Amino acid sequence: MKNTLAIDIGGTKFSMAVFEGEKMVRRESRATEKEGGRDWMLDQVVSIACRWKEDLRLDRCGIGFGGPVNFLEQRIALSTHVGGWRDFLLPAYIERAVGVPALMDNDANAGALGEALHGAGRGAGSMFYMTLSTGIGGGIFCDGKIWRGADSWAGEIGHLSIRPDGPECLCGARGCFERICCGLWLENEHGKPAKELLRDAEFVRRYVVDLALGLKTCVMLLNPARIVIGGGISKAGDSLFVPLRAELRRQITGWSGARIDVVPAELGDDSVLYGALALAREIERI
Ligand SMILES: [Zn+2]
Repeated sequence: MKNTLAIDIGGTKFSMAVFEGEKMVRRESRATEKEGGRDWMLDQVVSIACRWKEDLRLDRCGIGFGGPVNFLEQRIALSTHVGGWRDFLLPAYIERAVGVPALMDNDANAGALGEALHGAGRGAGSMFYMTLSTGIGGGIFCDGKIWRGADSWAGEIGHLSIRPDGPECLCGARGCFERICCGLWLENEHGKPAKELLRDAEFVRRYVVDLALGLKTCVMLLNPARIVIGGGISKAGDSLFVPLRAELRRQITGWSGARIDVVPAELGDDSVLYGALALAREIERI
């Protein structure tokens, strides 16, 4: 049985875990110190891993990174929330510093793998996973693996334009799905955290219209067996998912027989960690 180190690096927090086989035996989560940038994060990750190594064997490592990743080159493409990551070969660094082979993907693809193999997507076959939290990300799972596209950029649902005349997104385009629906912008526009806004049924009624506009694209393009939504906003449960399914049914053209199977993630804050576990299993196959 192999021991796997799993790392989830996000803009607001990072988490690490050790799995013995498929059983999580260690877990630690801390807030990300943005001012510390890359060097602070690397120090934290390596010191936690080395502490665990004192009494546990580590065989391999999977990493979910909160930003675009060039999967083929195992290189971080851009630095979005925290500085200093652009073009960084994170798995190669971990291999040197911790002494275990490592494989990395972006956190949406890792979350998709985690939910597909260990969470709400189990048994579904094909699945689209969307993280709905500070930002919006997506991952496409089919035939037992992640569809990454020709250049590792598949599934980037957050920057589809759903309102072309809408406000400008951080990416420079207008009316992106993320710009309209993610937690960061909801709070900026309404002056309240998303969690609070979602307790208001009237707000939810308007919100699901935009949410369905984005997800409709995914249903029409991919017709996945299931859509799993993770991230903080998905924790609103039925008060969000019941009206969302109804709105999707309303928006999707009548002749389409595509199913509307949209459910919350099952692994909560651990989707990416379980995905990192699944990624690490791929190391032997490469
Ligand atoms: Zn955008």
